[in-house]
Amino acid sequence: MVTNTLLQVKNLKKHYPIDKGLFKGKDYVKAVDDVSFSIQRGETFGLVGESGCGKSTTGRTLIRLNEPTSGQILFEGQDISQLSYEEMRKTRRKLQMVFQDPYASLNPKKTIRQILTEPLRVHGLYTKEEREEKAAEIMEIVGLHTSQLDRYPHEFSGGQRQRIGIARSVILQPDLIIADEPVSALDVSIQSQVINLLLKLQKEFNLTYIFISHDLGVVKHITDRVAVMYLGKIVELANTDDLYDKPRHPYTQALLSAEPVRHPDEKRNRIILKGDVPSPVNPPSGCTFHTRCASCMAICKTEVPKLRQLVGGGSVACHLYNE
Ligand code: ADP
Ligand code: MG
Repeated sequence: MVTNTLLQVKNLKKHYPIDKGLFKGKDYVKAVDDVSFSIQRGETFGLVGESGCGKSTTGRTLIRLNEPTSGQILFEGQDISQLSYEEMRKTRRKLQMVFQDPYASLNPKKTIRQILTEPLRVHGLYTKEEREEKAAEIMEIVGLHTSQLDRYPHEFSGGQRQRIGIARSVILQPDLIIADEPVSALDVSIQSQVINLLLKLQKEFNLTYIFISHDLGVVKHITDRVAVMYLGKIVELANTDDLYDKPRHPYTQALLSAEPVRHPDEKRNRIILKGDVPSPVNPPSGCTFHTRCASCMAICKTEVPKLRQLVGGGSVACHLYNE
């Protein structure tokens, strides 16, 4: 099999120092804690997990919107975690992000024309006339009209604003787009339109996606592979179909069991997790999921399970799968 690795993440950590109150100077929020995975060119890689598990921090740290605490980020073989500010600024053209709330990420005082041409101008691409042409072109591609170029973000609906947010990242012809909950703020009927747009653009521009979402249904529909995160770590990583058919990690099993059943004949035993997600400041020892796991064994309380590849494909970080 020919592999064409676009991005390789090795032992990525992002720990935020706590600078308020009781824990001042002593402790860290372990938002991302030793995460490793790689992404093939052209694929859609999902990052799922409950709110607060570190999905957004992983996405932002990958393109150094947050500085990593440690680890390597190899993009086309080059460790971009070591690039200078200026080198990173140039490289970021190839690594774009689409955010959950397009309204918050679009400057309300700028017209769509300004919003779309600005990234090109910042990166010193094309002449002014060419930039205007590109903006007009991309408007049509994302399903908007060139006559809307001189309007302001507030004149558009939520779905249209997300189309603008997507246009703004695609106009730079990036290799990788990190889409962080790109449809979570939209009505369900609009969600599938925006998803279809992302799929169309992927084909047209040979894009690679990291698709971040807490919505397992959307992730199942759009991704090729999925990583499940819990308390800053990847607990399971597999091809999407395999993960949904045969979840291995007790946490993945619980997450999927909580999904609404889509077929009336489908039977599902809902697994109720005990307790709340523990704090990422003082995560439980050993396997951080052990406090909520119905299959907890003695080893789980002391030893951190490594993410290990399974014979049948996929990887899981769980002592149940020690040989
Ligand atoms: P998700 O996107 O999965 O909901 P986040 O990556 O936003 O999770 O957050 C992971 C953890 O890191 C949470 O506990 C969150 O409170 C914490 N966190 C996120 N951003 C910051 C920050 N800038 N400073 C301190 N803690 C943060
Ligand atoms: Mg998030």
